Amino acid sequence: MRKIKIPWDFIKSTVIVLFISCLGALSFHLAGYSFFISFLLFFVFQYIIFSFLGNLINNFFIQKTKQKELDVLEPLSTILECAYCNTKNVMTFLPDQNERLQFECSSCKKTNSVNIQFVVARTTEPIQTQTPIKVDLKDEN
Ligand SMILES: [Zn+2]
Repeated sequence: MRKIKIPWDFIKSTVIVLFISCLGALSFHLAGYSFFISFLLFFVFQYIIFSFLGNLINNFFIQKTKQKELDVLEPLSTILECAYCNTKNVMTFLPDQNERLQFECSSCKKTNSVNIQFVVARTTEPIQTQTPIKVDLKDEN
């Protein structure tokens, strides 16, 4: 048996919208306006406002998460050799740190400073093969 998922959030919001529309239409009706037309107006107006607000809220949260991703840069870990004794040290640092990157060697306890270099490499491309030269195998003698 297939289970049908009931969209409770949608039903709930629709009931609320209908209820507010009824209340508004009733008050307009008491003031002498048409119940049906004021009901429709209230209904449409609420949907416009809710979709507009929904978009605004969504955009706000998207911006927030983007900023959070930028704020929390993942620390990088690397293995570096000590400049004095060549002992391999595991170093973790944040890429957005403005201070000088340094680490203390685990073996000789001397302070090493770290210089970050960017290396550029060509992307690999398939080798262009020439079409094979046709060799005539016919005996010329
Ligand atoms: Zn060392």
